[in-house]
Amino acid sequence: MKQVAILVPVYNEAASLPILKAALDGVVSTEKDYDWTFLFVNDGSLDGTLDLLKQMASQDERVQWIDLSRNFGKENAMLAGFDYADADAVIVMDADMQHPPALLPSMLRQWEAGYEDVYAKRDSREKEPWLRRVFSKMFYRILKQTSRFEVLENVGDFRLLDRKCVEALCKLRETERYTKGMFCWIGFRKKEILFECGERVAGQSTWGMRSLFHLAWNGITSFSTFPLRLVSVVGMLTALSAFVYMLWVFTKAIFWGDPVAGYPTIMTVMLFLGGFQLLGIGIIGEYLGKVYSEVKKRPVYFVREKSK
Ligand code: UDP
Ligand code: MG
Repeated sequence: MKQVAILVPVYNEAASLPILKAALDGVVSTEKDYDWTFLFVNDGSLDGTLDLLKQMASQDERVQWIDLSRNFGKENAMLAGFDYADADAVIVMDADMQHPPALLPSMLRQWEAGYEDVYAKRDSREKEPWLRRVFSKMFYRILKQTSRFEVLENVGDFRLLDRKCVEALCKLRETERYTKGMFCWIGFRKKEILFECGERVAGQSTWGMRSLFHLAWNGITSFSTFPLRLVSVVGMLTALSAFVYMLWVFTKAIFWGDPVAGYPTIMTVMLFLGGFQLLGIGIIGEYLGKVYSEVKKRPVYFVREKSK
C-alpha cells in the first residue's frame, strides 16, 4: 500500500485544527487504498495547539506531531516536516481550511498518472485587497523576468509532492527559505489543479503587508542577482555619460572660454551620484547579509519533542 502523508505546519491554530481534522477524516475515508498519516509541525504555537495535537494523536494513531523549539516560520516548519515524513507522497496544506481537503482525491489521481509535483493554483485573487494584488502582480513579473527557471504565478504551498521532490527539497538547506521558489527550482514533472481559495475558518493570518514585502524581496534575492546587475548597468551608463559630459565641459572651457557651469549642476550631479551609490551599497549589503546568514550554516529549526 502506498503511503501518503499530509503535512500541516501549525502556528496558533487551536481553533482551526478540529475543523481541519474532521474534514481530512472525511476525505481520507473515501481513499482507502492509501496508508495515511497526518503530520503536524507545531511551529512554536502560544495557544493550546500542542495539547490538542497530543490529544488527537492519542485518539488517532495516524496523527503524528513534531514540536519545534520556538516559532521558526512556516518555511522552516515545512522543512522539518519534509525531513521527518517518510511517505511515498507528501501533501502540504495550511491548517486554516484555505486549502480545501476536497482537492486531495484529484491530486492523488494526477500523482498516480505519473506527475511528481501536483500543485493547486488559485483560480483568482479577487478576495484579496487590490493593493496586495497589484504588488503580487509586480513581484511575479520581476521574478519571472529575472530568474532562469519557470516561475509559477499564484501558486501557494498547497501541493502533493512525490518522494523524489521531498528528497530534493530536503537537500536545499538554506536559512532564508523561499519555498515557493524552490518548488519551481527543483523541476520534476508538474501538474496544475485549479482551486478557489476560501477564507480562514478561525484565527488570523500572520502575514501583514510588511512580512509579504519581506517575502517578496527574499524571493527575488534568493533566486536571482538581477538587482546587482541592474546597479552595475546603471553605474556603467552613468559613468559613460559623465565622461561624455566631461569632454563637452572641457571643450567649452578650452575653445570658447566658457566659465564652468556652477553650483546647481554640481549639486545635481553630486546628489544623484551620492544617492545612487548609497542604493548600490544597500543592494550589495542585502546580498552580503544573505551570504552572512548562509555561511553561519545554522540549523534551520530545532525539535523539542515529537510523537513516537
Ligand atoms: N504558520 C506556521 N508558522 C508561522 C506562521 C504560519 O507554521 O510562523 C502556518 C499556519 O498555522 C498555517 C499556514 O502556516 O497553517 C499558513 O499561515 P496563514 O494562514 O497565516 O498564511 P496565509 O494563508 O495568510 O498565507
Ligand atoms: Mg491562511
